[in-house]
Order: sequence, then structure tokens, then C-alpha cells
Amino acid sequence: MKHKHKKRTPGLPGTSAAESGTLTGTIVSVARGACTVDSGGTLLTCRIGTRLAASQDADLTVGDRVTVAIADHNTYVLHRRLPRDTVLSRSGRDESRPERVIAANIDVAVIVVSVKSPPLRIRLIDRYLAAVRRGGIEPIICVNKVDLLDERRQDTELAQLEAYRHLGIPVVACSAASGEGLGDLLALLAGKTCAFVGHSGVGKSSLLNTISPDLRLATNTLRKGDSKGRHTTTASTLYRIGDGISIIDTPGIREFGLCDIGHDELRSCFPEFDGYAAGCKFADCTHMTEPGCAVRLAVRDGEIDRARYESYRRLMGDSTPDRSADESFVCASCGEQVWPEGAGTEHRNHCPKCLHSVHLDHSPGDRAACCGGLMEPVAVWVRKGGEWAIVHRCRDCGTLSSNRIAADDNEMLLLSLAVKPLATPPFPLDRL
Ligand code: GDP
Ligand code: ZN
Repeated sequence: MKHKHKKRTPGLPGTSAAESGTLTGTIVSVARGACTVDSGGTLLTCRIGTRLAASQDADLTVGDRVTVAIADHNTYVLHRRLPRDTVLSRSGRDESRPERVIAANIDVAVIVVSVKSPPLRIRLIDRYLAAVRRGGIEPIICVNKVDLLDERRQDTELAQLEAYRHLGIPVVACSAASGEGLGDLLALLAGKTCAFVGHSGVGKSSLLNTISPDLRLATNTLRKGDSKGRHTTTASTLYRIGDGISIIDTPGIREFGLCDIGHDELRSCFPEFDGYAAGCKFADCTHMTEPGCAVRLAVRDGEIDRARYESYRRLMGDSTPDRSADESFVCASCGEQVWPEGAGTEHRNHCPKCLHSVHLDHSPGDRAACCGGLMEPVAVWVRKGGEWAIVHRCRDCGTLSSNRIAADDNEMLLLSLAVKPLATPPFPLDRL
């Protein structure tokens, strides 16, 4: 199911009497057969009317704007759900896992990451960006826990996020502990309905508690020991804090982000590729393995941020959402999804199936700087210390490098490389 979002109204509109005997309001929590609706600051418990219950619009969620009919004095019936501006949803892959809307009418999703404990995981940001934008929600990246960063290292660490700023996504560095940067964050949220999303432990609850101490949300430290200060409501909730800011915080939002994203949706989250993609040889180029891919060329030439492209590759290939996508990659040569396990070494630098590699690393795992060309296995060789290695040659720039053979490398291919006649070695022996 695709959602079209035409005009967006920032914030939740004030509540007013619509048709006679009817009120409008916003759902702040949903229970079986009933919801709580905030109508002009008054909380109304509403039954879900039979006509609504029978209709497609019955999948009500927090943030939904609705009309409420007054049945008798003190009883209210939910009448109609008004069209949604945005949705935060888990995408449905097939009929057994249909799309599930987690919240409606969120203007801004604050994607929270931390610089340390847990460490900054740039690639996770793209997953969240994709999932958030799918529903028409504006993203903000909030980098929390900057108090844990050595001041001199702050700039280098945060430089990794420049690519997002260039895409027009606000990036705010802040600390729930010291209060640094929270003013900037709040300024961006004024008048908006927001949700804080992100990996557990990054400090979402701490941030919300600092912004609005009345919330008294349980943080990780509290969860471990006593439950003092724990928020007792487990149902979905919408909080109004100062400056016209509404915050939606539900269990669904807290777990959000582990959802899978369709390839088309994913591609639309990398708008900086668009200008280059027109130059790809194939109109439906996935920029993964196709020859004549202008996007890969742009990455090689430094015109597209390499970390972003790597992130794209991982998200495209990540079809097993419950495994960490961080160290896995899709082979640029044969398209195989390669996981870190089974290599027998800490890092995987070539595909165990076709033995190809990509010209990226200076040292194992740095995924840093080089030209990004495909590296062909040209020989097997023994290194100093008796360690067996594959010699790779970059198809683009000709660089040679050697790579330790992994425990699960394709034996037949290794063997065929090993028996290549050494009379005509495919690399200059004197330079090894
Ligand atoms: P959540 O799972 O995203 O809601 O994260 P929590 O708010 O529960 O925070 C996880 C842990 O990080 C807790 O132990 C917090 O005390 C700690 N924490 C949160 N924000 C900060 C911060 O800005 N600086 C530091 N040093 N610790 C923080
Ligand atoms: Zn391409």
C-alpha cells in the first residue's frame, strides 16, 4: 500500500465543533473497542461506532484526527477518521505481514543516534531515513551523548554526518546529560508533532525527560534496577509539551526501525544518486552489479559520498532483517549476500563464492578510501609467515593487494587460481 501525501498541515489543528453534535479531536491512545480522544484539551473516552468499525478506516492509531459524535451526555462515539497527512508504518512484504500503521500525522521524526555507547552507526541512519520518509515524515538527525566525546575529536566524529546536511536534513548534536544542543533541537520542533525513533540505548527517553521532566519516562538505568520514575502508562500516548510541540511515544515507535523496506522506496531515499542514475547503461539499474553504472563511477570519482553508497548497498542487500547488516555486503561481482560469519577472520574482504573484492580498504575493515573498482582474484600466494592469501588486482586502477584466504572460500576457485601457469604470472612478481 502506498500513501500519497499532498498538503501537510504542521501540528495538530485546534479542535472545534464540526457538524452539529460532532467534535473533532486527535486520538491519544487506542484500546480494544475504544479510544481516548483529545478534543481541545479535554480527554474523551470514545466507543468506536459500528459504521466505522465495519469500514476500512477502522485501523485507528495514535495521532489520527477523528470526528466524535455525542451520543448521550457523557458518552461519545467515534464517527469518522479524517484523512492522514503522514503515517509511520511497518511495511508489509506479503499477505502474512501486512503493512501496519504505528502512528499518524507525525510531522517530524527525530532519528536519535549516539556517538558512543552504543557507537555511532551511520548505516543505521539510512534505514531510519528510508522508513520515515516512506510515510511523508520529515527527518531530523539528533546525535546524542556528545558529552562523551573528547572535544578535539568531536569535529572529526561529526564530520561523518555532513553528507546528510548536504541533503538538507538537519543534524543536531546534543546531550541529554549536559543539555547541550537541546535548544537547537526544540527550535526545530516548535509547533510540530514529533516522534523520537532510534536504536535502544541511544537516549530517547533521556532526551524526552530532559525536554519535558513531567514525562518521567523510564530510562535504561532505571529499567535495570528499581522502577521508580517509570511511566506507568503502557498504552499509546501523545504528550503536549510547550511551544506547540506534541510528542507521540508508543511501544510501536520504540521498536520501530527493524522493518524491511522495499527496493523502490529505498532508492528514493538516496536522491543524490538521481542525477547520475540517468547515465546508467540500464534504465532499471540497481547500481549494484550492472556494467556501465554511472552511480558507481560517481562513487569512485568521489562525487557521491562513499559511506552513503555503502549504506545503500547494505540496505539493498539486507533481506534478513534480524541479522546485523553492519558488516555484511553484497558482492559487487556475483551479487551474493556475504555475511561476516564463517570467514574464520574478523573481517570479510572478499566474496567467498566468486573471490572478488572491491578496492576500498587500506587495512582490513577500514572500508575507507580507494577507488571502488572491482578487484579480481588473479592468484593465490603465500605471504610472509606462511599465510595463504589471494592476490587481487583492481580492474579500474590496476592496484595489486593480497587478502588472507578465509575458512569458507570457494575451494574449486582457489585451486584453479593456484594451478594457473606461473610461467606467465598475471602480476609483476618483482612488485609483490
Ligand atoms: P533509549 O533506549 O533510547 O530510551 O535510551 P535511554 O534514554 O534509556 O538511555 C540509555 C542510557 O544512556 C542511559 O543509561 C542514559 O543514562 C544514558 N544517556 C542518555 N543520554 C545521555 C547523554 O546525553 N550523555 C550520556 N553520557 N549518557 C546518556
Ligand atoms: Zn547504476
